[in-house]
Amino acid sequence: MTSSETLGHSVTIDEEEVYSLIHNVKSVREIQPTQFTGRVAIWGEIMEQKGNRINPKLTYMEGGHRTSWVENEGIDEATGEEFCIHHVVCDCSGNYDENSPQKVVKRTAKCLSALKALQRRAAYVDYTYRTTEVLDALRDPTAGDFEQSNTFHKVAVKTIANIIELDIRHPEEWPANVINGQHQASILATLLQVNPEVVKWYGRFLEEKGIVVFDGETLTPSDDLREELRSAA
Ligand SMILES: [Zn+2]
Repeated sequence: MTSSETLGHSVTIDEEEVYSLIHNVKSVREIQPTQFTGRVAIWGEIMEQKGNRINPKLTYMEGGHRTSWVENEGIDEATGEEFCIHHVVCDCSGNYDENSPQKVVKRTAKCLSALKALQRRAAYVDYTYRTTEVLDALRDPTAGDFEQSNTFHKVAVKTIANIIELDIRHPEEWPANVINGQHQASILATLLQVNPEVVKWYGRFLEEKGIVVFDGETLTPSDDLREELRSAA
């Protein structure tokens, strides 16, 4: 379980594309792991032939295209590094045989159907945790996202911190990220229904507080935060 803490690669996703989907949420359907079929399941079989253990947690169907959140345990054949990590994978990886989770996530992040599935997952997480409901109650509708009250910003930042913590403690819960231990500002913006630039501002704030490392797009939990959660557990 330690290798997930040393992942160095950030994933870039098309922020414009994600943001354009924000106000277009449809009803959220939860599909059981038995829907892990078709091309994404072929990918799972290829990985298992390589000695990985694939444990599918949830699959969303978007226009006949599957996007799954899976637990993937194995040894990276390129680096020899052991890993056990949760991440997204979609039908696009059906014949893809490199077994590095980072590489499959990079492919998946380029898929528009997968981005839509992520956006649906973000809507589900929002619905479950009442995030935008709470923020809407605090929101001044006459002001822009940056000009909201300190209370609004504090609740938003706290929500992000909670999501990061949830992902560390229970990665199987899939808080709409692409890989365990990384959180894209654009997806968090979908979840909070705020402008991605505001989330980046929150990201810099959380970095100053030592909670995350922020590269301008991806929030990664700091070693200090992981240590704090470990000692509190
Ligand atoms: Zn795809």
